[in-house]
Order: sequence, then structure tokens, then C-alpha cells
Amino acid sequence: MRIPSSPATSTIWERSPADPAAVEHALAASVHRVFWLDDAGDAPAHPALTADTRADLAVVGGGYLGLWSAMQAKQRDPGARVVLLEAKRVGWAASGRNGGFVEASLTHGDANGEARWPDEMDTLRRLGDENLDEIERQVARLGLDCGFERTGSIDVAVEEHEKEWLEPQLPGYLEADQVRALVDSPTYLAGRWHRDSTALVQPAKLAKELARAAAELGVEVFEGSPVTALSAERRTGPVALATPGGRVTARRVVLATNAFPSLLARYRLHTVPVYDYVLMTEPLSAEQKRSIGWEGRQGVADLANQFHYYRLTADDRILFGGYDAIYHYGRRVRAAYEERPETFRKLASHFLTTFPQLEGIRFSHRWAGAIDTSSRFCAFFGLDLGGRVATAAGFTGLGVGATHFAAQVLLDRLAGLATERTELEMVRRMPLPFPPEPFAFAGVQATRRAMDRADHRGGRRGMLLRALDAVGMGFDS
Ligand SMILES: Cc1cc2nc3c(=O)[nH]c(=O)nc-3n(C[C@H](O)[C@H](O)[C@H](O)COP(=O)(O)OP(=O)(O)OC[C@H]3O[C@@H](n4cnc5c(N)ncnc54)[C@H](O)[C@@H]3O)c2cc1C
Repeated sequence: MRIPSSPATSTIWERSPADPAAVEHALAASVHRVFWLDDAGDAPAHPALTADTRADLAVVGGGYLGLWSAMQAKQRDPGARVVLLEAKRVGWAASGRNGGFVEASLTHGDANGEARWPDEMDTLRRLGDENLDEIERQVARLGLDCGFERTGSIDVAVEEHEKEWLEPQLPGYLEADQVRALVDSPTYLAGRWHRDSTALVQPAKLAKELARAAAELGVEVFEGSPVTALSAERRTGPVALATPGGRVTARRVVLATNAFPSLLARYRLHTVPVYDYVLMTEPLSAEQKRSIGWEGRQGVADLANQFHYYRLTADDRILFGGYDAIYHYGRRVRAAYEERPETFRKLASHFLTTFPQLEGIRFSHRWAGAIDTSSRFCAFFGLDLGGRVATAAGFTGLGVGATHFAAQVLLDRLAGLATERTELEMVRRMPLPFPPEPFAFAGVQATRRAMDRADHRGGRRGMLLRALDAVGMGFDS
């Protein structure tokens, strides 16, 4: 099938929609569960906290940020008493349900970093590359069985105007036939393979394995232990964390609660939870796999403001996610938001437009998760209560790799160290908060409409997006 391209007022997904019957068929047998969690199998349960206890470091949150922080605290000081408190199960939230793209970028892409921190971008790029290398070393050193593959990722242009974003004048630019020789989709007009800056993991296995390694290093992990309040009686001395089963009194605290409400009220307006949706196919047959190629098993992403990301699993399924990003009034994180039939139908249709040769394939799983969007689209860092409580959040859908770097920043800051990391303007400066409701909802909806309009007219940004760019809240693709 050849798909006509047009500079136009429609996107490829509208010009070449899949047959609705094929979309219904593809989704009919899917279950609403996270494939990665099913695939990772049961993790050993950790007990809930049932008595008061003391710690040198208490970590709130059992996603990657909390796990890397707790683990690295023990690697830095094996004698320290480190306690991790998780409200539900380790890795159940974003860390167990993401795309598994481990990106070197700490700034959610170079364009976003260049726009905000032009003077330190060389340093940020180097630190990002070193961070990915260090994750690879940790995976090997700790024997983390998480399907780590340093395949790189391919950016693909699926609209004429996106080709110039791939910088055709620079070496490595792939014409349509060259990118299609790597991964065969009739939607591809051009591409660029970033060979070193992306690895792929099985995300739930990474969380499970980090918890294992942390426990082996002596971190005391408590699940089913939501922290309901944080308090400190004096300007120095310990910080108290209340849970239903007991209290932890800690010299230092890491807050790693991502899209969930921060225990420190001052950060509650700094993120909005935005829902991202994912489909997983059944394993491809040898013939289906041959029809796509994809021998290099790279991650793939297209370039629009509203973009898709996709990749293979160890058993040759295709994960296909992205495009819709849904914010619900009131900043709430709720399981009910994870089911959205119109979004799953849209994703299935876009999948079949991307790979029409797979018509007849079925999706086995569909799920969604909350992304902690910040107004600068990458993490911010807080240090409070006289340097006793360190926070990072706002990874905006690119936290698999960046949480490892953030954990080092948090530990440096809690130790009172001045390092290359802590001196970064990106670390020292806070982004603008989002406004309270009803303005947050109205603003996010208006921005999404503006991004959609930009995608419909050659990527050109309208007045709202240009105004947001000007105050440092612009969306970059
Ligand atoms: C669908 C989807 C796809 C994504 N794809 C990618 C990708 O391909 N690449 C990428 O880099 N990033 C991706 N991301 C983002 C990435 O998953 C996150 O940035 C990363 O997992 C954040 O880790 P975390 O530890 O900060 O948060 P989480 O994994 O959300 O962990 C936070 C934990 O804190 C716990 N918690 C909250 N409040 C409390 C409390 N009061 N007491 C105790 N515990 C508490 C929660 O229960 C939760 O377990 C994606 C996210 C989603 C949702």
C-alpha cells in the first residue's frame, strides 16, 4: 500500500484510516491489564510497616526514582539504615507500565533543553550519555534481569513537513527506502537512527529487579504503607513520616511520588497527571515479523506534537502507545481513567495504518498510566526543611533513564555536596507551577487543541503555543 502524503490540513491518520471492522477485530480479545506486569510474574511481597522505626534515609515511593535512590544510598554508605515506603506494590505505577525506552536525554529531547538551558546543554548532553552508560553498568553489575537491549531508536517522519526536523543536511539522515529497509511501514517518509542514545527494557522487570537488588543491599522495603503526613518539629533533627501501621523518624527523606499528590503542599501545583495509553499485540508469527523486518529491534517514534512510540518485546509482540494525552479535571489519579475505548480504537487504527501488512492481528493487552507532566517537560528538584527533604518529579513521560540521574542529584543534595550535578541551573531553578483549577483544566485543553491544530498545518505553531514558548511553557515535539 502506498499512502499519499500531503502538506495539508489533515494528518496521515485521517487521510489513511484503517478499516473500522479490522480495528474492532484487533481489539476484541484484548484484556485491560498491563502486559509487562503479567510478563514479569509475581514479585516477592514485602511486608507493611507495623511499628515505629528509625532510619538514616527514608524514601517515599517504590517506582524507579525511589528504588534507585534507596539502592544508591546503600551503595554510597553500606552502613546507613535505609527504609523505603510504598503505598501499594513496588513498580505498580508508571515504572511498571511504561514503554521501556531508556533515553539518554535528561531534558526531554535536545530542542527542549536548548530552549531552556542553552549554556549548559553540552554538559547536560554529556551527563545524559554518562547516565545511560552507568545504567548499563548497573544492570550488568547487579545482574538485573530486565531485558536491557541497547538498540537505539529511530525517529520517523510521517508528514512532509517533519522531514526537515530530521536535519537532512547532516550525515545519518535516512531516505524513505533506507528507513523502510530497517522497519517497513508505508507511512515513513524519512528517518534518523540514534544508535547509542536509547536502550530498551522490560519496565516491570526493571522495577522488580531493582527492588530485589535493593533488598539484597539491605534496604528495608515496606509495601502497603502509604505515607499520610510528613512533619518536622524543629529546624534541625529528624523528619517524621506517618503511615497507618507506624511512624518512621528519619534524618533525611527522599520524596519519589511522581504523579501522585506531593506530601509537600508547595509542589502540588508543579505537576499535572496526564494519561498515556498503550496497546500490546499478540506475538508476531515468523511471516508477520518478516513482513516488517525490524532485525535491529530499535525503538521507533514519529515526530508530531501528538506522537506514537513503538517497540518489540522479547517474544516479538509490538507495543504501540502515545498520541492521546488526557488530563482529567482536578489533577486526580484514578484507575477509572485508564479505560478509554475511543483512545484505544484510535491507537489501533493508527497501528494498522502504520503496519497494514499486519491486518488481522489482535491486541492481547491494553492499558494506561499517569504521566507527571511539568511545565518544563523534564524533572525539577526541590530541597526543603533545611536540606532534610529532597524531591524530584515532573519527568513528563521520559523518566526511565532520567530517574537514575535524579536519584544521584537527590542524594548529593541531602549530603550537602556541591557536585557538577547540583550546580546545574536545571537543578537549581524551579519551573513555573500550573495554575489551580479551573484554569489548569482550561489551559491543558487549550494547549492540546493548539498542538493538534499545529499537527494539522505543517507543524506551524499558533498564537497560544507561541505565547507558551515565550514564558517557557511551550510544548516541543
Ligand atoms: C504509559 C506510560 C508510558 C511511558 N513510557 C516511557 C518510556 O518509554 N520512557 C521513559 O523514559 N518514560 C516513560 N514513561 C514515564 C516513566 O514511566 C516515569 O517517568 C517513571 O516511571 C517515573 O518513576 P517514579 O519512580 O518517579 O514514579 P512511579 O513509578 O509512578 O512511582 C511512584 C510511586 O510512589 C508511590 N506513592 C505515591 N504517593 C505515596 C505515598 N504518599 N506514600 C507511599 N507511596 C506513595 C506510588 O504508589 C508509586 O508506586 C511512561 C509513563 C507512562 C505512564
